[in-house]
Amino acid sequence: APPRGSNPLAAQEGAGATTSYAAARTFDELPLSQYTKDSLKKYKFVTLTAVQRATLPHALAGRDVLGAAKTGSGKTLSFLIPLVEKLYRAKWTRLDGLGALVLTPTRELAVQIFEELRKVGHFHDLSAGLLIGGKAVAEEAARVHRMAMLVATPGRLLQHLDETPGFDTSGLQALVLDEADRILDMGFAATLDAIVANLPRERQTLLFSATQTKSVRDLARLSLTDPEYLAVHAEA
Ligand code: ADP
Ligand code: MG
Repeated sequence: APPRGSNPLAAQEGAGATTSYAAARTFDELPLSQYTKDSLKKYKFVTLTAVQRATLPHALAGRDVLGAAKTGSGKTLSFLIPLVEKLYRAKWTRLDGLGALVLTPTRELAVQIFEELRKVGHFHDLSAGLLIGGKAVAEEAARVHRMAMLVATPGRLLQHLDETPGFDTSGLQALVLDEADRILDMGFAATLDAIVANLPRERQTLLFSATQTKSVRDLARLSLTDPEYLAVHAEA
């Protein structure tokens, strides 16, 4: 992975950053790259939702986060913005391999996340792919090496980890588990364990869920390091 630090934003990772940005109400007030700000503006994203206010300052500061908020509350941008910023700050290119991975339970959700990523990443030079089945494994396998970011369903991702020669996840910087409650409900717990066992321990993990069940908290305990627990019950 390329060294960080040449970008002034990188200095904001770590202690202190959260206090200064906890009051942010608009995306413009957050420490985001101009590319991200311009992309959000282009798609008319101006004001943060409650879950975005609660989680973005922590996630942008590099911390692990468990965010629980109901469907439709804006969880997707809560993880996509930190991922895009992380890779941008690190000057990540497709030659650096897989930098960020989003796991979500269904193909439909993966497609929706990918569409949102197109918006956030509009002005970025970011290579991103979908691994959701529906295409031949071989066809996906040929492209998987050139992706800095992947949005995947757990089964298909594990299949590539097992079967695609040279699919290297050792440089992964950040992992997102989206709809963690549904991932578990759909019986993907063992698949998830097998995937996480293939990933570097030193990484940022963001876990989002519509509900906070015991199994989600157990998953958080196993996959997150010293996380911030943020539950948002009602839209402000
Ligand atoms: P969740 O994952 O929590 O169910 P989504 O991330 O899918 O919710 O967001 C629901 C809808 O709200 C999407 O259409 C998304 O584009 C929109 N949205 C998210 N954040 C904002 C925002 N800050 N301002 C306006 N619309 C937003
Ligand atoms: Mg969602």
